[in-house]
Amino acid sequence: MSAPRAVKGMHDLLPDRTAHAAWLEARFREVARRWSFDEIRTPVVEPTELFVRSIGESTDIVEKEMYSFVDKGQDALTLRPEGTAGVVRAYVEHAVWTQEPVTRWIYMGPMFRRERPARGRYRQFHQLGAELFGDPGPYADAELIDMLVTFLREAGVADVEVLLNSLGGPEARRAYRHALVEYLEPRRPALSADSQRRLASNPLRVLDSKAPEDREVVAHAPRITDFLNAEDRAHLDGLRAALDRLQVPHRLEPTLVRGLDYYDRTLFEVRGRGGELGAQDAVCGGGRYDGLVETMGGPPTPAVGFAIGLERLMLLAPPPPPPPGTDVFVVAVGAAERLEAAVIARELRAEGLSVETDLRGGSLRSQLRRADRVGARLALLVGSDELARGVVQLRDLRAGRQREVGRDALRAAIRAERSAT
Ligand code: ATP
Ligand code: MG
Repeated sequence: MSAPRAVKGMHDLLPDRTAHAAWLEARFREVARRWSFDEIRTPVVEPTELFVRSIGESTDIVEKEMYSFVDKGQDALTLRPEGTAGVVRAYVEHAVWTQEPVTRWIYMGPMFRRERPARGRYRQFHQLGAELFGDPGPYADAELIDMLVTFLREAGVADVEVLLNSLGGPEARRAYRHALVEYLEPRRPALSADSQRRLASNPLRVLDSKAPEDREVVAHAPRITDFLNAEDRAHLDGLRAALDRLQVPHRLEPTLVRGLDYYDRTLFEVRGRGGELGAQDAVCGGGRYDGLVETMGGPPTPAVGFAIGLERLMLLAPPPPPPPGTDVFVVAVGAAERLEAAVIARELRAEGLSVETDLRGGSLRSQLRRADRVGARLALLVGSDELARGVVQLRDLRAGRQREVGRDALRAAIRAERSAT
């Protein structure tokens, strides 16, 4: 058998990239803490029906991207393609509205979509998301978007701009859908095959198409913002005024739509602007979904949320500050000292230091080379003569200096050397 390989579109994160991912996750938790959001974790696998009902039957995700299977108990299950459906299910299942009027949650974890892999587009990827339940007003949207932009800036993304649109409520969408179909129908032959199909099933999705022929037709299509009723309009105006006041850079983008059915009113997206992301330029998508909690069996509950693609963020954001690394490399000079070297390493670890040893042994030179390679600043040389006298040699690998230190004074000596730089 040939050597097993990772599934197409699914990737290992080796330690340097894991460090970046973990650092971004830690920053996200820290920003969320300042905005009073708490973290929730939901299962990676959910009933297939959950996604069909929430995301919508005629969306790309449900039509062709889900990893769905029937398990041995004949249950229809799916690896989650996004986070909101599971979070809303949890919100309803635990009747969270009975405990608090407004709920602020973040989540993070792997998502699965069977898409064609490309730079920034994978079959397993990760999202950092937030959801705010129970507040219908535009200031909730503004506060959430402000948190998002603050996080992206602290993650190191320069030049963040939020693209905004409103899909209106159900009434505006119905009227708009009608006008859009009226406009698109006579132009059907000019559309891509996908869009011709969507025209019947989900015409708003034509606006989201990336095919150049569709983009041309869409450029002159009627705009949803002309169909908003007074309340939709007031919500959008309130949000824009709040973002202005909070100094969050934003721009109205009337052709913005998104690939999930559950959104109404506010819709937003953040795109990478330096070209690092190529065609996959959306780093974050979000919006309001005031009807979803009720659809899932809860009481009418307004909600707004977003999801950031972690891998795309890693392409945009600079690497994090380097980790502190190994403090000390313990070297056993000869085979007879190996066990005692291990004991010394353990004592130092108990003191909170990061310690590496090479207990395979080998020559002094090769062990010191290895100490250098792991980036240790200090080496401890444990020899038989020294052990007999209760001392070790402490060597500064950069300066090349070496001195004898008593075992009981070791910790203080190491800390002193460390703080000397
Ligand atoms: P796109 O238009 O690029 O396909 P989307 O509208 O499908 O994005 P959402 O469902 O809104 O994306 O997900 C939110 C974010 O998750 C996206 O902005 C993106 O950063 C990330 N994302 C979505 N799909 C993938 C994927 N297959 N691989 C990596 N990241 C993804
Ligand atoms: Mg997509």
